[in-house]
Amino acid sequence: MSTEQDKLHHSKRIHNKETYTKRQVKIAKHLHGEPPKAAHVYHKVSAATCGNSNCVMCGNPRRFWKERTIQERGLFQQLLQLEDTTPADHSSQDI
Ligand SMILES: [Zn+2]
Repeated sequence: MSTEQDKLHHSKRIHNKETYTKRQVKIAKHLHGEPPKAAHVYHKVSAATCGNSNCVMCGNPRRFWKERTIQERGLFQQLLQLEDTTPADHSSQDI
């Protein structure tokens, strides 16, 4: 059974989704000059991308710019902190 608070959360989710989609449609109109045929597409895809995964500006930054993922950055940060805390004679060992 759904409570009154659940119904409020649900209606807020729907409202936020519609607001986001309307904003993306507005951006798409501005960028492409004509209104999009399927507005629901912009629920998950940003209007600013061209949709081509081979495009340098819209593609995966890891592929094109050799950026590290968030997980990799966190791992390297942990390794650096580990190196700082270990004594100097153990720092040459591989982890
Ligand atoms: Zn692009």
